[in-house]
Amino acid sequence: MAQVSDIYGSMVFNEHTMQERLPSATYKSLLKTITEGKPLDIEVANVVAHAMKEWAIEKGATHFTHWFQPLSGVTSEKHDGFLDPTGDGRAIMSFSGKELIQGEPDASSFPSGGLRATFEARGYTAWDPTSYAFIKDEVLCIPTAFCSYTGEALDKKTPLLRSMNAIEEQTNRVLALFGEPRQRVVATVGSEQEFFLIPEKEYERREDLVLTGRTLFGYAPCKGQELEEHYFGAIRPTVNEFMKELDDELWALGVPARTKHNEVAPAQHELAPIFANANRAIDENLLTMEKMQLLASHYNLVCLLHEKPFEGINGSGKHNNWSISAGKKNLLDPGESPMDNLRFLVFLTSVIQAVDEYQELLRMSVASAGNDHRLGANEAPPAIISIFLGDELGAIVDALITGTDYTNAERVALDLGVAVLPNFLKDNTDRNRTSPFAFTGNKFEFRMPGSHVNLSDANMILNTAVAKSLKEFADAMDGSSGEEFEAKAIAYIKKTLSDHQRIVFNGNGYSEEWPVEAQRRGLANHKTTADALPCFIEQKSIDLFAEFDILSETEVHSRYEVKLEKYNKLINIEARVMKRMARRTYLPAINRYASEVAASVVAFKEAVVGAETGAQEELLADLLGGIKEINVQLKALDDACATVEALEDELAKAKYNAHELLPIMEGLRAAVDAMEIITDRNHWPVPSYNNMLFYV
Ligand code: ADP
Ligand code: MG
Repeated sequence: MAQVSDIYGSMVFNEHTMQERLPSATYKSLLKTITEGKPLDIEVANVVAHAMKEWAIEKGATHFTHWFQPLSGVTSEKHDGFLDPTGDGRAIMSFSGKELIQGEPDASSFPSGGLRATFEARGYTAWDPTSYAFIKDEVLCIPTAFCSYTGEALDKKTPLLRSMNAIEEQTNRVLALFGEPRQRVVATVGSEQEFFLIPEKEYERREDLVLTGRTLFGYAPCKGQELEEHYFGAIRPTVNEFMKELDDELWALGVPARTKHNEVAPAQHELAPIFANANRAIDENLLTMEKMQLLASHYNLVCLLHEKPFEGINGSGKHNNWSISAGKKNLLDPGESPMDNLRFLVFLTSVIQAVDEYQELLRMSVASAGNDHRLGANEAPPAIISIFLGDELGAIVDALITGTDYTNAERVALDLGVAVLPNFLKDNTDRNRTSPFAFTGNKFEFRMPGSHVNLSDANMILNTAVAKSLKEFADAMDGSSGEEFEAKAIAYIKKTLSDHQRIVFNGNGYSEEWPVEAQRRGLANHKTTADALPCFIEQKSIDLFAEFDILSETEVHSRYEVKLEKYNKLINIEARVMKRMARRTYLPAINRYASEVAASVVAFKEAVVGAETGAQEELLADLLGGIKEINVQLKALDDACATVEALEDELAKAKYNAHELLPIMEGLRAAVDAMEIITDRNHWPVPSYNNMLFYV
C-alpha cells in the first residue's frame, strides 16, 4: 500500500517538484517571483511551462486550464488540450510559457457588475505563481488571477493578492522599528469547513434542496441536537469511507486536511486543514469544497455546503483562523522576551484597531442570503462584530488602558518593557464560542464566515484594515529607535487600545443584553445582507482600498453590484421554488389526505348508526383550515414578488426582500409545516427532516 508520504502532494507542482524538475537557474528565478513578487520573464516561463507539461503528462494529464475565482465566488475553468496538431497529420503535446502565464477565457458569462460590457467579453487570466499548479481529474490546473483588458480585477484573488502585498509592506516597516531586516511576510489562514452529508435518494426528492441548497419547508425532527451526541465512535461505515477517500484525494493535492467528526448537528461534519499562506489556503479550501461535493456521490451521499440547510438545526460555518507570519515567526504569538511581548502588543493592538474601524466591512465580507439565516441565530456568532480576548489578555489590555498594574495571583506585576507578559498562551481553555472574532492563543479566529463563502473577501479586508493600522503605527513612530521607540510604542498602544476598547467583549454574544449593550457602544448590527452591503461603497471604504491599491472605486462599485444582484436573484429563486412546491406538491397532497379523511367520516357514519366521528371531523377542519392558510400566504407571496419585480433599484429590492418578502416566505413555510405533522406520512410528498438527517 502506498504510504501517505508518497501520496502527499503527488499531484502538486510544488517547490520540491520544481527543484527536481527545473534547471537551477530557472528554479532560482521562479523562486524570486514567488517570494519577492519579481515579474517572471517569458524565457523562464517557457522553461517552467515545459517542465510542468512533462510532469503533468507523466501523471496522466491531457488538458490544462487556468483555474480562477470569478466574482460569483465559485471556481471556474476552461480546458485546453495539450495536443497540438503539427499539420502533417501528427500531433505533439505542447504548452508554452505564454499559455502558462496568460489565458483568455470567454469573460462574458461571468458577473462583472457592469465593469465589462458583455459584447466585449474580453478579459485575461494571469498565472499566480504563489499558489501551486496541480492536477485534478486529468487536468493541469494553473491558479490564476482574472482581469479585464482595462486592468480591472474581475475575480476574488487579485485584490487578495494586493492585500497580501499591503500587509507584507506595512509589517516590514513595523519590524524595521524592532531592528529586523526586511523579510517575507504573509497573512496565514486555516479554515475549518463544516458540511452536511445526507442520502442522495432523499435529496433528489427535495426540489428545494436541489434548486436552492436549503430546505424551504420541513418540520423539525423529533430529535435534534439536544442530546449532543456527536459522531465520535459512531461514524457510520459509509461516512467513514467517504472521509477516507476525501483525505486521500486532498493529500494528493497537497491539502493538509484532517476530517473530524464532532459537529453538534446530526449529519454534520467538519474538515480542518493545517494553515497556509492566505492565498494558498483559500485555493485549497475551494478545492476542498469541490472535492467534497464530487466524492459524496461515490457513496450515494450529497454534501451540503449551504450555511443553513435545515431550519432549527445548527447551520454550517467556516471559521477563518488568521495570523501574520514573518519568516518562521508568528507575529500574534506573545513570545517570551520583553521585546517579543512588545512586538506582540503592537500587532494585537493593530488588529483590535482594524476590526473596530472596519467592523462593517468585515461583516459585509461574509454577508449572503444563506449566511443571514445563520448569523444571529442561537448557534452562530451574532451579526455584531466584537473581539474576545479571554480573561487574562483582556485583563492585561484593561490594565494598559487604565494605567494600573496588571497582577496575577501567581505572577509578577506587569510593567511593560521590563517584565515578561504572563504566559497566557497555554491558557486558552475558556474559549468563548459565542464570539465572532476570538483570540485563541496565537491567532484570531473569525467565526462569521458561512460554510459556502469564498474566504478571499474576508481576508482581503482583514489584511487591508490591519495594514492600515500598522501603517499608522509606523508613521507615528517616525523612525525612532531604542528606548525612545519603546516609550513611544507603549504610549501609542495605550492610546489606541483605549480608543478602540468598545470592540472588546468577553461576555456571552448570544445573550439578550448584548445587542442593547452593543448599540450603546456604537457597534454596528447589520442583521441582513441588504443592510450589510451598503457600507462597501461608503467613502471610508473606498478610501481604504484606494490607499493600498486594493480596489479602485469602479472595482468597489462593481463588486457591490454583483453581491446585491446575487442576493436578490437567490431570494427570487427561493420564492419561486416555494410557490411551486406549495401549489404543485404540498397542496395536492394535503387535499388528497383531507378527501380521504372526509370519505372516512361518511363511511363510518354509513357503517355505524350514530358513529362517533368527532376526532376525524376535527382533523378534517384542521386540514381545511391549513389549506386555506397556505392559500392566503401564497397570495401574499405572489403580491410581494410582484412588488419586488416592479422595483428598479437593486438596493431597494434587497431591502424589500430582506424585510418584507422573507417574513412572508416564513409564513408560508409555517403554514405548510403545520400540515406536515398532522398528515399521514404516506401522503406526505417529500422526505421529512427525520428521513434526511438520521439515515446516512
Ligand atoms: P479548533 O479548536 O478551533 O479546532 P485548532 O487548534 O485545531 O482549533 O486550529 C484550527 C485551525 O487554525 C486549523 O486549521 C489550524 O491550522 C489553524 N491555525 C493554527 N495556527 C494558525 C496560524 N498561526 N494562522 C492561521 N491559522 C492557524
Ligand atoms: Mg474553530
